Amino acid sequence: QVVTRFAPSPTGFLHIGGARTALFNWLYAKANGGKMLLRIEDTDRERSTDAAIDAIIAGMEWMGLSYDGDPISQYSRVERHREVVEQLLAAGQAYRCYCSPEELTEMREKARAEKRPPRYDGTWRDRDPSEAPEGVKPAIRLKAPQEGSTVIEDQVQGTVTFPNKDLDDMIIMRSDGNPTYNLAVVVDDHDMGVTHIMRGDDHLTNAARQTLVYQAMGWDVPTMAHIPLIHGPDGAKLSKRHGALGVEAYRDMGYLPVAMRNYLVRLGWAHGDDEVMTTDQMIEWFGFDGMNKAAARFDFKKLENLNGVHMRHADDDDLYSQLVTLLPHLEDGQSMLDLIDEPKKAQIMLAMPSVKERAKTLLDLKAGLAFLFDTRPLAMEDKAAKHLTDETRAMLSELLPRLEGLEEWTLESTDALIRAFAEEKDLKLGKVAQPLRAAMTGRATSPGIFDVLIILGKDESIARLKDQTQ
Ligand code: GLU
Repeated sequence: QVVTRFAPSPTGFLHIGGARTALFNWLYAKANGGKMLLRIEDTDRERSTDAAIDAIIAGMEWMGLSYDGDPISQYSRVERHREVVEQLLAAGQAYRCYCSPEELTEMREKARAEKRPPRYDGTWRDRDPSEAPEGVKPAIRLKAPQEGSTVIEDQVQGTVTFPNKDLDDMIIMRSDGNPTYNLAVVVDDHDMGVTHIMRGDDHLTNAARQTLVYQAMGWDVPTMAHIPLIHGPDGAKLSKRHGALGVEAYRDMGYLPVAMRNYLVRLGWAHGDDEVMTTDQMIEWFGFDGMNKAAARFDFKKLENLNGVHMRHADDDDLYSQLVTLLPHLEDGQSMLDLIDEPKKAQIMLAMPSVKERAKTLLDLKAGLAFLFDTRPLAMEDKAAKHLTDETRAMLSELLPRLEGLEEWTLESTDALIRAFAEEKDLKLGKVAQPLRAAMTGRATSPGIFDVLIILGKDESIARLKDQTQ
């Protein structure tokens, strides 16, 4: 069975790169009938916080990325990590190193002077432990092979070879008894039964070091795929302005989770030329095949367009529930939410089909629906105010009694009445519709004018019209 995992460090929100890593692991598990586990890499006690754990889990939930079982805390497994260190010591695969910090600094400086990469020189590798200085707590180092190379058959990067002389005897447990990151990751992945590791390619060197631990323990190395990091549109490291934000920032910008999944999967993976995909299609098609070696570039314009496509495809009930879930997170959202009762909801649902056509995000949708929430007399946008002159107000005053006299208030009846009125006044329909739209919505753009009249209903329409004509 395929077992993947997402292993975030809880030092901040779920950022966009992490969300993509989680998505890839989730998709791969789903595509292969497997599981995705969540491991919280919280061994850095200074920087790990519960708030970050909550934010990561909430972010995954918003993205629609579920994990199997309970989250696993890496820190809670420290005794198991120590146990493995003991096993490696007992097997002669690791040794105690008594070098003092000063000696290590000296080693590094010597390397720098000789223009070599800093490497542990193996001082304690073969030295007799009886020579150990008294009262010094040793660090534990892996006895790594000094010759040959460590090869990673990476599903994205291809065959990557690391000469072993460059991977010196890394510390697997510090002198304070804390196991190191590369040791903990291997023990956890092994114990969790992880079969496939997908993560950012900034972990490629770690992958080589981790491979040495697998080998020393005689464990199978999982299949690995190191995915290129996400860069900004200019090819540089992703900056805040260019999208390096937590997923809740994307939620608050009005993006749909389905569009986020679609957009993120395309950053680093492709299925032919397909741009727009449902999540089911992504699950059906996802695999290592379409993964890209080149860094992906984040592009807000593309995300926005894709979101617009998904908005148009979404069904109205779904959009409604996404909107009301978003509202409490927005500055003026709660006040809007408070105004939604059954009749208001009915109006929203009537307006939805035409408003969503023009909306690229839920914020656009909210703006498009705002005319339903405005209180009378309406405040006018500048562009709308332009349509209300003495002349057009006089024209609307003439239209008012006719609309008032309309018995049946339907699309057909309002349409017929207003067209007949325009014809009688020798005006193009737009010359009537634009001022009327301004009076009805306070805005220059809205759903079709007849739709607006029906959505608002007769009483509200007449009242708004009176506000502008009397
Ligand atoms: N905790 C690591 C990170 O946040 C992930 C390491 C891994 O996936 O192996 O980058």
